[in-house]
Amino acid sequence: MEEAGRRRRRVDLHTHTTASDGQLRPAELVALAAQRGVAVLGVTDHDTTAGLDEAVTAGQRVGIEIVPGIELSTAVEAGEVHILGYFIDFHDRPLQEALRSFQERRIERARAMVSRLQALGIRIAFDDVLALAGGGTISRAHLARLITERGYTSSLEEAFARYLARGRPAYVPHERPTPVEAVQLVQAAGGAAVLAHPHTASDLARLLPELIAAGLAGLEAWYGEYSEDQRRSLVELAEVHGLIPTGGSDYHGEGFREGRELGSVDVPPESVERLRRAASRTGR
Ligand code: AMP
Ligand code: MN
Ligand code: MN
Ligand code: MN
Repeated sequence: MEEAGRRRRRVDLHTHTTASDGQLRPAELVALAAQRGVAVLGVTDHDTTAGLDEAVTAGQRVGIEIVPGIELSTAVEAGEVHILGYFIDFHDRPLQEALRSFQERRIERARAMVSRLQALGIRIAFDDVLALAGGGTISRAHLARLITERGYTSSLEEAFARYLARGRPAYVPHERPTPVEAVQLVQAAGGAAVLAHPHTASDLARLLPELIAAGLAGLEAWYGEYSEDQRRSLVELAEVHGLIPTGGSDYHGEGFREGRELGSVDVPPESVERLRRAASRTGR
């Protein structure tokens, strides 16, 4: 047991809800976070802010701070570059217009991926995907869930490895903003931009200076799946570049992927305050 006076304000700045490919509704996520001793929770759904109103209201009810966030997918030839936005003004018009177009492209892409899966003998219908996504951002995670639930694969991991990962037969790329455009979109909405899970970027040495020039504020260092060594060296990398080290579990639901338990990271509250200040310097 922790002594009361010493209890840390747990901080988890990277989580998903049913507004994208998370398994809990925003209010359920917030309730679970409160149970796990999280005092500051960043809600960062893929390409949407649709869960934020509910999360903020639930946060007020249970007494935890919700950092309004987003995780933007970007166009890169190799690897995955995701840009997190924190303390965004999520009712910002231009932001919502951009998000609407990302959603439309995701729907078209999911339709194309379902056709490919059907051609491979996997009998799932596009309507099933829409129903599972429940009006939220459609991602490959939804396809993986259906493929696995119908018994074609025995895990989400296997569904990606066999069908959905880049280079696999059902993979379809989609148009997205460049990483620099994503940073700019976050800033224009008054937020602080952070590079998510930096090790999925295939050429970090080239990407980072470009993002910094565009106004990147932080680097995700305490990431659910990263080892202590990886976290430490990312904190150092952030310091070298004058970036704010941030962190989060990337929670999507129970049993989603190892290391992604809600509240499993140890982010100093100082990082939240630095993000808040960085965000207050951007936008209109
Ligand atoms: P998308 O944004 O449609 O390209 O889908 C990417 C999403 O799929 C990520 O946000 C993860 O939730 C999920 N994902 C990607 N790779 C894997 C994997 N190997 N195993 C499980 N989920 C994955
Ligand atoms: Mn996801
Ligand atoms: Mn991501
Ligand atoms: Mn994420």
